[in-house]
Amino acid sequence: MAQQQEKWDVLKILNWTKGYLAEKGVENPRLEAEWLLCEALSLDRVGLYLNFDKPLSDAELAAYKAMVVRRAKREPLQYILGTQEFMGLEFQVTPAVLIPRHDTEVLVSEAIRHAAGIKTLLDIGTGSGCVAIVLARELPETEVATVDISPEAIEVARGNAERSGSPVHFFQGSLFEPFAGRRFDMVVSNPPYIRKDELDTLQPEVRGFEPMSALDGGNDGLDFYRAIVADAPRHLNPGGWLLFEVGAGQAPDVLALLQQGGFAAETFTAPDPAGIDRVVGGRLNS
Ligand code: GLN
Repeated sequence: MAQQQEKWDVLKILNWTKGYLAEKGVENPRLEAEWLLCEALSLDRVGLYLNFDKPLSDAELAAYKAMVVRRAKREPLQYILGTQEFMGLEFQVTPAVLIPRHDTEVLVSEAIRHAAGIKTLLDIGTGSGCVAIVLARELPETEVATVDISPEAIEVARGNAERSGSPVHFFQGSLFEPFAGRRFDMVVSNPPYIRKDELDTLQPEVRGFEPMSALDGGNDGLDFYRAIVADAPRHLNPGGWLLFEVGAGQAPDVLALLQQGGFAAETFTAPDPAGIDRVVGGRLNS
């Protein structure tokens, strides 16, 4: 007969996982263990707390262990669970897209703040679609288009748009490539902006699992800002807005690019909750 093994109940396995993930360098091991266990048991967190003494079935234990093994290798929790919340909406994410960051909410709120009279908007490098989808919801009078170079990302974004019920148009290509002869009232972008020499210093979760094509901004991190600013005057109506998310410390450089690139009027910067200038914008000279 198989020997009677000691049963794992919810509380016991949470405590074990907390120690195990902490050893692997995971920052919030107890909380993450709870989320993984919620997923394995199809419970919400309240349900989990009401079931601390529930023994796990073999199938539940196997499913949970497989997720813990992935997380111990520093795969982001969001890729394991398949979702990330952004501005109150749930977005599906896969390794084809950057996981939405809360810092990017500043880009969305600044776009909304400057959106009076905006009829057409383009989001460049849409990834999961989070920025465009929230903007399409918040600005029902505005036609929202997105472009991404990655067909896999567009597939993820399209699914997110369908689930949210927001009408967003998707185009595949590099920057303004699909928009020959077309002009918008506003262009927003959170482009790849990590300097090449900093890619190695990113957290294991980012460096090992998120798409490099969404992070690598070239030798000085500014490649995509330069390329977008250079083409934007051909794709914005006079007085149109160009808004960027920028990395820590990049605001002065990107502001200078805008000023030299025909966006001298009404340039601005906006800080994230940590006080770092996170969004830079300007208006095409009319
Ligand atoms: N904010 C991301 C990070 O720090 C970078 C996103 C980007 O390059 N646009 O990992």
